[in-house]
Amino acid sequence: MMKTYQDIKSAAYMDAIISYAETLLDIRFNSVKKNRCNAPCPFHADSKDSLKAYVNKDDEVRFHCFGECRGDWDIYELIMLRKKCRFKAAQQIWADHLEEKDFRFYDGDSPRIPEADETTAPDDLVVFAEPEKPGEKTAAALKDAAKFYNDLLLSDNDRFKHILDYLSDRGIEKDTIRRFNIGYAPPYSDEQYRGRALIDRFSQRFEKDYGAFSTFSDSGLVRFLNDKSVRGYGYYCRQIDFERKYPYSRNYGDYFAGRIVFPIYDTEACLTGFVGRGLEDRGVRWLKHQTREIPLSPGTWLYGIEKAARYIRQYRTIILTEGIFDYFAFYRLLQPQDRLVLVSTLGSYITPEAANILKSLDIKHFIAAYDWDEAGRNGIERLAFKSGGWVYYPGGPAEGQDPSDKLEPVLSTISGFSEKDLKSKTILQEKMP
Ligand SMILES: [Zn+2]
Repeated sequence: MMKTYQDIKSAAYMDAIISYAETLLDIRFNSVKKNRCNAPCPFHADSKDSLKAYVNKDDEVRFHCFGECRGDWDIYELIMLRKKCRFKAAQQIWADHLEEKDFRFYDGDSPRIPEADETTAPDDLVVFAEPEKPGEKTAAALKDAAKFYNDLLLSDNDRFKHILDYLSDRGIEKDTIRRFNIGYAPPYSDEQYRGRALIDRFSQRFEKDYGAFSTFSDSGLVRFLNDKSVRGYGYYCRQIDFERKYPYSRNYGDYFAGRIVFPIYDTEACLTGFVGRGLEDRGVRWLKHQTREIPLSPGTWLYGIEKAARYIRQYRTIILTEGIFDYFAFYRLLQPQDRLVLVSTLGSYITPEAANILKSLDIKHFIAAYDWDEAGRNGIERLAFKSGGWVYYPGGPAEGQDPSDKLEPVLSTISGFSEKDLKSKTILQEKMP
């Protein structure tokens, strides 16, 4: 009699399913009672036997995680995840394993696991938590991550040539990479790192102290790959790497995998988070660091403020750019003049938190070096009005334009800046594209 895919995952196949899962997923079932088995969940670090095999009301054998991932799978879904294959192939594998000759394939989709072709990297949804200073442990983890990614990027000129070239094309050379602690997190497609460069680097620490891993996880430095609640689950669940021994390495990846990472510092030079730049112009190009457990404070982020604060106070002048690459276009002009009155707002408006920081710097001249929309203009004009200052709108640097041309009409009217200063750095200008 022809068997259906439903038939061969029924309670009658419990033993076969359990033993296959043991070899397939390296699941160690600890107690075996009738129709009920407990094991550490293979999809997250688990010391509590959170995974239970059970038979549901339709007589199907299923696995449910009562721990972190709350997942629920049948044997086909485990095979799809493990072998990174489609539902049809999973049926084939399971029927072959049972040596079931009279098998009728089901042509539909698996209800839960996305098909293998739905596996492009997703756009990340960005949801921000309320502002708060990172605690001591988080701060240390962020520092470790920044140093690691920076060291990695600078460690191998050949291997990371495409990244160094990409940055160099945008005026960011090695000394600047060093000065700004810019780093790189290799992608999931990287054969050596598999999107886990950071996790691998600290795996010994995690092995000794699971709390250290929790800190990395809570600090948003790693991504749980089996999280059905996030967009792009179909992509991330296929990055689970069953060849890896440790659960945190198997089921987690670097949050910024595949991105250039730019650490963000506050006025006191404390690291408060990252933004990650994707190399392609599709999807979310700039991924802001986010956490679920520990609130960071992206509203306060002003890229470069730790280097600019003293100059902003001295000249009572600030130049605001929208993006980080615009920041570096102006950086190359202002840095050699010792007048680095420059920050990037990492977006096209000033948040109330960032406005508070700027208020404390007693600024007279607000130079908005990008194309503000009306909301952005209103925000900065309110801010300038309160401090009795002025706003200038030279606009953002156009493609191929020398940033000094943008700033010249504005800066030459501000005390401490002169046309001569702007034009004296011809060496720098020659390097502009
Ligand atoms: Zn689990």
